[in-house]
Amino acid sequence: MSILVVGSVAFDTLATPYGKREKILGGSATYFSLAASYFTKVRVVAVVGDDFAAEHEGVMKARGVDTTGIERAAGKTFHWGGEYGDNVNEAKTKFTDLNVFQNFRPQIPQAYGDTEYLFLANIDPKLQLEVRRQMPRVKMTGGDTMNLWINNSRPQLIETLKKVDILLINDGEAKLLASDTSLARAARKVLAMGPRALVIKHGEYGATIFFPDGVHPFRAPALPIEEVQDPTGAGDSFAGGFMGYIASQGKLDRPVLTRAMFYGSVMGSFAVERFGTERLQQLTKDEIQQRFDLFRSLTHLD
Ligand code: AMP
Repeated sequence: MSILVVGSVAFDTLATPYGKREKILGGSATYFSLAASYFTKVRVVAVVGDDFAAEHEGVMKARGVDTTGIERAAGKTFHWGGEYGDNVNEAKTKFTDLNVFQNFRPQIPQAYGDTEYLFLANIDPKLQLEVRRQMPRVKMTGGDTMNLWINNSRPQLIETLKKVDILLINDGEAKLLASDTSLARAARKVLAMGPRALVIKHGEYGATIFFPDGVHPFRAPALPIEEVQDPTGAGDSFAGGFMGYIASQGKLDRPVLTRAMFYGSVMGSFAVERFGTERLQQLTKDEIQQRFDLFRSLTHLD
């Protein structure tokens, strides 16, 4: 089964307590595709500028990701600057240079029309909805968003959420979206906006999947990692592992969803061990399985 992701392919300039990096490969669609590529075939729709070199695209191609949906526009690639202090859950945005992203109108290549799984990574909800409308045959749609859109584009976001089956956001975003300080109540309110399931990510503390009334939620832990070198992309890598595993199974029952929560945590935990996409580029299926088993023993009750 293949999965299509639409989102940002970017350059990131980062500072963490472990060091600094200038203009390294990043972006929500990049992290998502690398993580999902260990589970299923991945297709990407994004835009880059003329400073995006073959070696950058090569990182995705080396993982078998289909990059024909990456549009090249005149100008510079989207560039995000972020900084982290001792709290790994809190990214401080230093700058957001939209560049070619400013005029991005995603076009789904005809060859991608048979895609069954779709992930709308964090971009303008208006664009997310346009993409969803171009893909009437998808079986399941996952989505992400952020405070910027919740605050500034709420009506468009509400429309988009009606077309999203599983929304993946963090605690703060869920509370902001629902205008409620109780996480459980916020989850119920967000589910009433359309999604059939809601994954709330708690950063270094794991993630919980909530369902509409009557079905109890499920929480997956995060692995305690001694050296979180760079938290960038943890959420997108979680989404890649989560959605990639679901697409590889072709069905959507509770056992698949709960295992997908573990695979999401596994991929998020790998992403943060090194700067940028470094760790996600060279994993093996064995390493992924070993970590999955570690997660299982972490939560197993005799
Ligand atoms: P995460 O840490 O999983 O939330 O994702 C971080 C990635 O999102 C970075 O690689 C950035 O390039 C990208 N990013 C940051 N801000 C935006 C934005 N406004 N729109 C799209 N992508 C963004």
